[in-house]
Amino acid sequence: MKIREPAQFRLELVQYALRFACEDCAHFDPRARQCGHRYPVDGHTRAAFEPEAAGRGTFCKEFELA
Ligand code: SF4
Repeated sequence: MKIREPAQFRLELVQYALRFACEDCAHFDPRARQCGHRYPVDGHTRAAFEPEAAGRGTFCKEFELA
């Protein structure tokens, strides 16, 4: 799912301390920086949601809060 209102998302990200990226997911191996399900993580890490990533970030359906 893509973010339609990136500016609003960035505000709510801070306001509600949202957890949604691979780094927050129970399936993420932080040392290898890989998904335990072997999904590609490139579009789901926090970096992908930064403004300079130009909308590359998408939410992962398999996300599970760590
Ligand atoms: S399940 Fe999705 S959010 Fe979790 S580590 Fe894998 S790719 Fe990232």
